[in-house]
Amino acid sequence: MLPTLHTHDGTLPIPSEHLRFVVISDTHTDTHRITVPPGDVLLHCGDICKRGGSLQQIETFNDFLQQQPHAAKIVIAGNHDICFDHENFFRLKEAHKLDPYYMPINPYESLTSATYLQDSGVRLCGYNIWGSPWVPKYSNTAFSIKRNSPILVGKRMEIPVGTDILMTHCPPLGTLDLSKKGKYGGCSLLAERVQQVNPIVHIFGHIHEGHGSLLTEKTLFINAAIRTPIRGEWNQPLVFDLPNNKRDLTLL
Ligand code: MN
Ligand code: MN
Repeated sequence: MLPTLHTHDGTLPIPSEHLRFVVISDTHTDTHRITVPPGDVLLHCGDICKRGGSLQQIETFNDFLQQQPHAAKIVIAGNHDICFDHENFFRLKEAHKLDPYYMPINPYESLTSATYLQDSGVRLCGYNIWGSPWVPKYSNTAFSIKRNSPILVGKRMEIPVGTDILMTHCPPLGTLDLSKKGKYGGCSLLAERVQQVNPIVHIFGHIHEGHGSLLTEKTLFINAAIRTPIRGEWNQPLVFDLPNNKRDLTLL
């Protein structure tokens, strides 16, 4: 494990020859409630929207991203970002009785200042970053697949060996995933795959109560949920630093 690898609030000085990663998730339209520390890379682990979302919610989020100084911004979707789940959009729109004019939104076009990952990766300064929005079945929400089903197994197996920074919306089962109802809400298949892949850092959100970080022998886990179960209270972004292997910020 890298000696400099731990989570902090972003007020510590950046170690020399390091990149600063700032992590947020589950903002649910509340980006104005947080103070985003400066850094090189801003990462968002899904649940941009609330109440089914809208074009305006996505535009406001994109404006927020544009205002951030980070050289690279990487975003995945969550189960509340219905507009990005084109396969299930119209079924979910009807189930939630959403605005009839609300249409699917192309995340690659609408998030103009970010790199959007959906079962895909990007290499940044020598680090392989992979993004995956899938959660075990949450009734009538986006990017939801039956718990422990072969399709969900397939999605987890798509996470490549060699991933350094793994972004998922869902936590792995048993890690920063204890809900207020006393249940572990993470995904067991994801936990199994993480043990095979051993990323340096695994970041996620989804179970808002699990906010925090856990450093194990192989991986730094971060649940960066901004929304909390308490009305009127928000968590702040979490930060980690990694050596800058390439000393530039070219997205390859
Ligand atoms: Mn959420
Ligand atoms: Mn969620």
